[in-house]
Amino acid sequence: MPVYEYKCNECSEDFEKLVYGSDPDVSCPKCNSRNITKKFSLFGMSGVEKPATSSGRSGCSSCSKSTCSSCH
Ligand SMILES: [Zn+2]
Repeated sequence: MPVYEYKCNECSEDFEKLVYGSDPDVSCPKCNSRNITKKFSLFGMSGVEKPATSSGRSGCSSCSKSTCSSCH
């Protein structure tokens, strides 16, 4: 389900809203205004970093092992 990012045009509050329908009823949580701008956002704002699939997760840079438990 998509998370949309909104910005209130009245109080400049930035907020996110999880929406289910295509025409959600959204108002500013701060000033309750409907005068908002919708910006499409990502799925969950945290951890959007792309996982490096090939170049070692957590490994050390000097060896090809996936953990450093045996090379130090
Ligand atoms: Zn507002």
